[in-house]
Amino acid sequence: MNQRIFNFNAGPAALPLEVLMEAQAEFLNYQQTGMSILEISHRSKPYEAINAEAEANMKELLGLGDNYRVLFLQGGASTQFAMVPMNFLPQGRTADYILTGAWSEKALKEAKLFGNTHVAGTTADGNYKRIPRMAEIQLSDHPAYVHITSNNTIFGTQWNELPSFGQVPLIADMSSDILNKPFTAENFAMIYAGAQKNLGPSGVTVVIIRKDLLENNPKTISAMLRYETHAKNDSMYNTPPVFSVYMLNLVLRWLKGQGGLTGIGKRNIAKAGLVYDTIDQSSGFYRGHANVDSRSLMNVTFRLPNEEQEKKFAKEAEVAGLIGLKGHRSVGGLRASMYNAMTLAGCQALKDFMLEFQRKNG
Ligand SMILES: *Cc1c(COP(=O)(O)O)cnc(C)c1O
Repeated sequence: MNQRIFNFNAGPAALPLEVLMEAQAEFLNYQQTGMSILEISHRSKPYEAINAEAEANMKELLGLGDNYRVLFLQGGASTQFAMVPMNFLPQGRTADYILTGAWSEKALKEAKLFGNTHVAGTTADGNYKRIPRMAEIQLSDHPAYVHITSNNTIFGTQWNELPSFGQVPLIADMSSDILNKPFTAENFAMIYAGAQKNLGPSGVTVVIIRKDLLENNPKTISAMLRYETHAKNDSMYNTPPVFSVYMLNLVLRWLKGQGGLTGIGKRNIAKAGLVYDTIDQSSGFYRGHANVDSRSLMNVTFRLPNEEQEKKFAKEAEVAGLIGLKGHRSVGGLRASMYNAMTLAGCQALKDFMLEFQRKNG
């Protein structure tokens, strides 16, 4: 176990060690079936139980009732960029997008293929350093839905107070911060997330959808691309990503053991605080990309005095057992992704490394 390192990759990302060990322990013989979970039929009782438990756990953690479904789909969050307008943007209506980073831009680009769109707010000026204020957001007249990205993985910003637009269906890409702290899930008509950042391994995309949205999906689109199809078939219309859903369920169980969203939220605030405090107390040696009021608990983006030092930082951190810290090219510098599975010890190790690096190079 002492060969495990601190993994700050943006995604796929670290998984809880307890979950990996559990999967390892039952890998060759899942619940006395004499087979691994990878080998059993998705129409078998053991898999049906996993699928049902994962849906129930997700709803329990989010505090959602019977008016929501949880679907386990494939194709990543990127396929949701297209499925959302295909299902919910009828001819003659407009879909509103709030742009807070590269992923929201991609979602908008896909929507434009299917209908009218309107940019209801954007912080592209200033390279997405912040989340727009409510006063800056201007919805179109009677939009079909409003789409937001709750956490901007690349830029390190997060809606610290999630918006609500009354009766207008609110749809969120929560790929990089789903279940990171308590929030009012009922304010959302739909939430989607690729699992590989904060939920489990890649291969499964979670869609949490209010049942009334399943009623009028157009029949002119492919069955695989209609939410209605997957809801009716309990996410088993075609062969589901069995292993990914199994792992996701283990992560959800683990999260319940951490005290649910309240417990993990406290821990995430403490973890991010260690790193942000180090940035703020570095007398300008470390400079955060995000405005203080828009800082993400999940992805901390920061620069050093020059690119030479940034390269050196990433290289030496790796030698010290802290990997995945190189930033995305559109922001530069460093990025520490610290999703739910990252431990407080990992963030403390990063803080210690940052202090030591500044002492030697500052
Ligand atoms: C990573 C990411 C995506 C892309 O997810 P895929 O599952 O790879 O398609 C979309 N949105 C956000 C916010 C992300 O962080």
